[in-house]
Amino acid sequence: MKSELQNKLSLALKREVDSKFAVTQTEDEWFHYVVVEYLSELRKSVNTPLELVQIDELIAEFNRYPLLPLSERKKLCQHLVGLVKKHSKEADEGGAGVQQRPYEPAELWEEPVSKLKGVGSKVGASLEKLDVTTVWDLIHYVPMRFVDRSKILKVKQLRTGIDATVLGTVVDVKLQKTYRGYRLLTVTLQDDTGRVDLVFFNQEFLARKFRRGQLVMVTGKVESNHGRLQLTNLRSDSFEVLEPGKEILPMIPVYRAGAGTTTNTIRKVIFNALDQYSHKVPEIFPYWQEKGFLSYPDAVEKLHRPENQAQFEKARSEIAYREIFVLQVLLALRKKVIGQAQGISFRVERDWIEELERKLPFTLTNAQKRVILEILNDMQKSKPMNRLLQGDVGSGKTVVAMFAMFVAAKNGKQSAVMVPTEVLAFQHYMVFSQWAEQFGLRVGLLVGSLSASEKSKVKRYLKSGQLDIVVGTHALIQEDTSFKDLGLVIIDEQHRFGVYQRAALISMDKSKQPDVLVMSATPIPRTLVLTYYGDLDVSVIDELPPNRKPVKTFWVSEKRRSSVYEAVKRELDEGRQAYVVAPLIEESESIEAAAATSLYEELCSTFLKDYKVGLLHGKMNKEEKKNVMDEFRKGSLQVLVSTTVIEVGVDVPNATVMVIEGADRFGLSQLHQLRGRVVRSSYQAYCYLIANAKTQEAVERLESMVKYSDGFALAEKDLLLRGPGELMGERQHGFSGMRVADLIKDMKMLEPARQDAERLVSEDPNLERPSSSFLRRYLLKEFGDASFLLGVA
Ligand code: ADP
Ligand code: MG
Repeated sequence: MKSELQNKLSLALKREVDSKFAVTQTEDEWFHYVVVEYLSELRKSVNTPLELVQIDELIAEFNRYPLLPLSERKKLCQHLVGLVKKHSKEADEGGAGVQQRPYEPAELWEEPVSKLKGVGSKVGASLEKLDVTTVWDLIHYVPMRFVDRSKILKVKQLRTGIDATVLGTVVDVKLQKTYRGYRLLTVTLQDDTGRVDLVFFNQEFLARKFRRGQLVMVTGKVESNHGRLQLTNLRSDSFEVLEPGKEILPMIPVYRAGAGTTTNTIRKVIFNALDQYSHKVPEIFPYWQEKGFLSYPDAVEKLHRPENQAQFEKARSEIAYREIFVLQVLLALRKKVIGQAQGISFRVERDWIEELERKLPFTLTNAQKRVILEILNDMQKSKPMNRLLQGDVGSGKTVVAMFAMFVAAKNGKQSAVMVPTEVLAFQHYMVFSQWAEQFGLRVGLLVGSLSASEKSKVKRYLKSGQLDIVVGTHALIQEDTSFKDLGLVIIDEQHRFGVYQRAALISMDKSKQPDVLVMSATPIPRTLVLTYYGDLDVSVIDELPPNRKPVKTFWVSEKRRSSVYEAVKRELDEGRQAYVVAPLIEESESIEAAAATSLYEELCSTFLKDYKVGLLHGKMNKEEKKNVMDEFRKGSLQVLVSTTVIEVGVDVPNATVMVIEGADRFGLSQLHQLRGRVVRSSYQAYCYLIANAKTQEAVERLESMVKYSDGFALAEKDLLLRGPGELMGERQHGFSGMRVADLIKDMKMLEPARQDAERLVSEDPNLERPSSSFLRRYLLKEFGDASFLLGVA
């Protein structure tokens, strides 16, 4: 400890006491910050977790020192004096004792489970399958349920037919063969009221686990065999051998096992981890005391070893809160960094807008007008725009984007439009080119399948400023694209891109932040907007263009497939067009392409043999794709058989029928997207879902499709059916750092957690306070790519 710091503290402390705890200021520093500085320094030299926690608590207290009543301030100062004395004495004696390693809590998320007692390579491999690789993962592995010891029955209380938990001593272990050749293990258990047999079939390996005199707790179904009570239906995780002398827990956690482990193994390993590490769990939520939370170490402890259900619930929800808080801090930091960045303040002239509006083939809806105003308003500000535009499929987001690009171009700035698929990139490229021509703007296309020379040409033009607008896929950020003067980034169909990709595009040119408009076709429930897009402002188009009739949706069994194609033919004969989507096959694009091809061949030779049918799938090359789409758009193809490559954004107003084969294989939002392809005009549109649903969930999905045409209603439903990870296209839970939180159950935490996050970011923008130090390290570990937000890139 530097003595300089100690002197500074002594002086400050004396002055503060003299002035009766009035929150004094020394030189340029407030008293309590001098203390915090001292404590933070002291913190680095302590050896035990307990001391560390004490210091952290003290730091937290001093951080709100001015808010405390005088009596509290006095107490804190006395406490501090004691601490200073103790440590200056220790410092004097320094070197005498054994040199201990300073306590390093943050290691937990780097500590592999294999370091734990009881985790060999086999258990380690099984845990890995359960997504548990570090000690941190392990101690956040939430019990599925608890066996409540207070619910343990005495043998005398057992009745046949009920499920019961019994605790008793092993008095006999017998292994027999039945005359039918089963091997029967009978373990007799006794408590102070009587005896009961545990009966295991064909699990003779368990015989080794039981020894007379052991204390065993077991849960099973009570049956009676010739008057003797039995517990049956027993599996290897139905019982637990309790070690003598070891305190028996009031609540025994049961874990989701599988992948080669049993709940008993997992419990043992988790308990080992808790014994060894729970006191080291670092506090990442600086306001825990204020909120009356358990400390993080306590919460982790109670998550697995609570005294009752309520204590478990409290611990679980406080850990969940922390997880949500962390994500919200990330978003708040992004918001702040983007907010501070110097953006472009675009000029907007009324004439331009009117000119553009006049040249549209339709009148804007009121909702479109409103969001256009919101966007142009953002663009005028010097703060960079960072806005999410939401609107159901077919609500007309593309034209809104055009207004923004038009204004950018009028200001001499380039726009980049990023979309998830090449098919959509071609389509946007076409629509934008046609439109831009009238205004003398130049549009380019940059997708992965272009030849190297084509790509380099586009990149050259972007760099020299010969292009005003570029439409592209991921290639836009993967290639080393540079712009002459990028002013606007539009990300279409956002749900396909993760938070990181958003970051990558935005930081492409660090000196001047371009404005960013994110357009989402999948309506996102409000809760998820807060979770994943808390850093964005939101505009919503809540109105479809006039004269759109809701699509009539039918769910038809495979058996009645022919009737669907009869209906399709009637529409084709009326001059309309149709899509037929082949069943989704996730394993590989080529199998999916093959399935589409065989469906195409089947339809051409049967139901649709007198019609002009085309085929589109992901394995076709760029030219082929483009040709088929062009012909379909022109109407020279009447039917387009396709894989999900048409899922997003494709716009052919004359197509009014959507047939989805094997519809039970698709997710709700995918089905809604596909159906959205035919809500493009004032013709009545039809959607046929051909499926024999095999699961209850599939039945619910298909029924929801028939029932709802509103994308927001479907999205809420989808959230319930599949959970947020799937909905956001992020399969790994690890993405958002949520191990314990459940966004459906814990929805109510989002708003308060967001407020806490914003408070923290305003109080401690770079997370430099000691009380933020673990949070900072945690963020860097969990969201490494976000490091630039903390200025530590
Ligand atoms: P999405 O929001 O799904 O991206 P699009 O922008 O592709 O929707 O628009 C869907 C269709 O509706 C397009 O054919 C577009 O030309 C048309 N459209 C957009 N706005 C209007 C409007 N105000 N009136 C009539 N048609 C419109
Ligand atoms: Mg669109």
